Amino acid sequence: MSDCLFCKIRDGLIPAKVVYRDDECVAFEDINPQAPTHVLFIPRKHIPTVNDIAPEDRALVGHLFTSAAKVARERGHADGGYRLVMNTHQDAGQTVFHIHLHLLAGRPLAWPPG
Ligand code: 5GP
Ligand code: ZN
Repeated sequence: MSDCLFCKIRDGLIPAKVVYRDDECVAFEDINPQAPTHVLFIPRKHIPTVNDIAPEDRALVGHLFTSAAKVARERGHADGGYRLVMNTHQDAGQTVFHIHLHLLAGRPLAWPPG
């Protein structure tokens, strides 16, 4: 999608600190990190919200999780713990409408969230 921030990061039109990429997804450092590790995993396919995930996207979404777990392990968070979250629409605070899985780690994370 031409006016999507994360499509532009995917395409290298807007710079980002990319930490992982493959044929299906790209992962980059969040510009406003909320924890020592704060990485966003996006599918290369433009999907606006979780509401728009189609049955044929199930493997792709699963791939975001396994990719995030891989980076979490590489950064030493596998045993200490981490949080994966995908915000949807206003009440959850979604601001970029290209789905992204947040990987948050490196400090104790409160629950329930604010
Ligand atoms: P949301 O609130 O939609 O779940 O998360 C959007 C995330 O994207 C926020 O954590 C925000 O800091 C991050 N973000 C917004 N604009 C940019 C940007 O231009 N570059 C990067 N790397 N992250 C961004
Ligand atoms: Zn997009």
